Amino acid sequence: MKPTAEAQLQFLQHIQRLFEEGGFVATYKYALLMSLAELAVEAGETYEELPLPLIAIAEKFAEVYWPQTVPYISGAADTLPAVLSQNLGKQASVINGLAELRAQGASTIGQAKQLASWPQVVRKIAATVSDMPVQHLQHLGGALVPFLYDYPHPRGAVVLKPGVAFMLRTFHPLIQQLSRAGWVRHVRENQRNADVIGHADELESFMFGAPRNTLDDVARLLSRLQSRKCFYCGHTITGPADVDHFIPWSKYPRDLAHNFVLAHPACNQQKSDMLAAERHLDHWLERNGREGDTLTGELPAFLADVSCSIRVAHWAYQQGVVTGAAGWVMKAQTEHITDRCVQAINACLR
Ligand SMILES: [Zn+2]
Repeated sequence: MKPTAEAQLQFLQHIQRLFEEGGFVATYKYALLMSLAELAVEAGETYEELPLPLIAIAEKFAEVYWPQTVPYISGAADTLPAVLSQNLGKQASVINGLAELRAQGASTIGQAKQLASWPQVVRKIAATVSDMPVQHLQHLGGALVPFLYDYPHPRGAVVLKPGVAFMLRTFHPLIQQLSRAGWVRHVRENQRNADVIGHADELESFMFGAPRNTLDDVARLLSRLQSRKCFYCGHTITGPADVDHFIPWSKYPRDLAHNFVLAHPACNQQKSDMLAAERHLDHWLERNGREGDTLTGELPAFLADVSCSIRVAHWAYQQGVVTGAAGWVMKAQTEHITDRCVQAINACLR
């Protein structure tokens, strides 16, 4: 039976209390609410109770946290890039589990799911989810108010009460907004992040992947700087050109002015999510040494700090060495990323 208007109002009041009265020592509760709401949407409309396997909730968790497992690099002076702290105490274990998958070479969550260790990481996340946020989410003002599901829950699944899935679907946009806002506030106010964030300019778009900035101005500028030649193959670009993220977007999803290069769409596509080979890296470091100030001056809409971009490159190539990543040379040709790349970057950081 469809929940009455009164039941829906009461549900919203509980949600509101959850944000006001729930204790948030970590960001897990926000992730849990977002995950429950998304799973309710994906389940299709039902007024009945809805069992959600802990493994499915854990996979949602992994997706939600994935973009936040790379270092956040602020545009503010006197900040140091680091992975954001998701807990008032030591780093949230979910982040550490996902970081292991990144260390094994996964750049995207899709690649992470292909790794042999994925099921094990998800099982660990499921155990954490059951112990921590599932247990504590419904503590409002110190008392357990089980309005979403009963706790303890049956083995292996959280069972949404009748009508709850329907209301999570109905109020999904509201719940997402409240969760995101609360989450951003939590991360921003966490003292452990003070040296990382500085003023929190692009924090929300970093955490949740807002639409990418328009790249038209970048294309015009790079076309001039590169004399309309492809950054990678050096041939003239006659047709449309692509603005490529030199350090791939999948590895570092932020628009840094000095990370842009202009390339043939074909070259860009072949490079795909790979790091560029050593010869391209040398070219990029040289370009930024020569044109760094021009890029900073003419691309004010983007985070424009050349040493920041070089620090990101250092992080990415160092990871590449550790994971034995392939560097893209041209067409289908690749070579291993070696420590020489890291040394070349180090020379520019000095
Ligand atoms: Zn090309």
